Amino acid sequence: MPECTNPLWPCAMTGAAACLAGFEGMTVVIHGSSGCYYYPTTLLRAPLHGTFILEHEIIFGSEDRLNEVIGGLSGKGKRIAVITTCVPAILGEDIRSMLEKHDVILVDSPGFSGDVEAGYKNALSILEPRVDPDAKGVNIDGACLFDPFSAGNVQEIRRLLTMASIPVGTVFSHDRLDKVRHASPYTIGTNEDFASGIGEYCGGTLGFKAIKSSFGRLSELFEDADVDRVFSEIEQQEERMVRACDKYLLRFDPPSVVIFSGFSYALHVAETLERYLDADIRCIGSRNAPGSSKYPVEQVTGLEGVKSLIGQYNPDLVMGSSFERSVSDARAFTGITPPLRGTIRLAPTPFAGINGTLSLVEQVLNTCMDRKPGRP
Ligand code: SF4
Repeated sequence: MPECTNPLWPCAMTGAAACLAGFEGMTVVIHGSSGCYYYPTTLLRAPLHGTFILEHEIIFGSEDRLNEVIGGLSGKGKRIAVITTCVPAILGEDIRSMLEKHDVILVDSPGFSGDVEAGYKNALSILEPRVDPDAKGVNIDGACLFDPFSAGNVQEIRRLLTMASIPVGTVFSHDRLDKVRHASPYTIGTNEDFASGIGEYCGGTLGFKAIKSSFGRLSELFEDADVDRVFSEIEQQEERMVRACDKYLLRFDPPSVVIFSGFSYALHVAETLERYLDADIRCIGSRNAPGSSKYPVEQVTGLEGVKSLIGQYNPDLVMGSSFERSVSDARAFTGITPPLRGTIRLAPTPFAGINGTLSLVEQVLNTCMDRKPGRP
């Protein structure tokens, strides 16, 4: 078995499952062992199916088991997608010919083919997304089930688009399956780590500056758009946020921060905390390949790397996943990155949009106030 190159971040198989399970009308089958099944199931909180192959199938072949599972799921009016994992891929079985008699979408996405982003992209490309020149509105991009904020992001960007009287096109990947091939010619993003590349990209929605720029572009494209309502809400909410941050800074020093996350979210957090809280961004530990940044940034692919960055930069506040929380000692911690084990999450909290930024800053202020003694 090839070694896991990034144990902190899920493999391509999980990325494929996150993409496909987001579409209504799709039944997703993980063809592999129980471990390959349970990991995305607990992380994505989506109804997945598995073939749960054991020693017998590994030695004598998995065709019978695969057909048994697919047979049980067929005829229920849903498209079936089969995702292959490392073991069948290494065994070299010809899965496509095994599935010949079934109408299924086969996604070859063993974990060793890449990280979660690569698997997501590959699965989406297999669905053959297309722009329909007659489709109305704007697509919402980057809604990957793996991202714990994706449901909140979609809800928030729908709210802003509705406020601006702009219809919503296709949501990638959280929509009806048939809409994948009828996407609008225009797209705005919520999490660029999971960009679809479909339609003309009009910008992101992480942070007030990005929202203003993207909605400014949309106002040029949609003559009936009323983006002033969005701009006015940004102005009001930014004022409230600045007041809260200023009040915090009267009592406490600006926090020093190390951020562990996918690069897009990490950069947004760094820019927001620096701008509004004068935070000292000591380092970004990016889960995926980082882009350019004015902050020190390195890709971190193991717990030792996390510990080393925290030790080296000694921040007041660590932002990341349960992995970072486990090695943060008594430092303030904010969970922004999956997995977030041991945390109950019921409400669809956004990271993108106006409410996403408010929620982020609110969480950081509350966490830091809980941990820090006030200035004498
Ligand atoms: S597909 Fe491979 S890397 Fe992914 S969980 Fe299964 S064995 Fe691990």
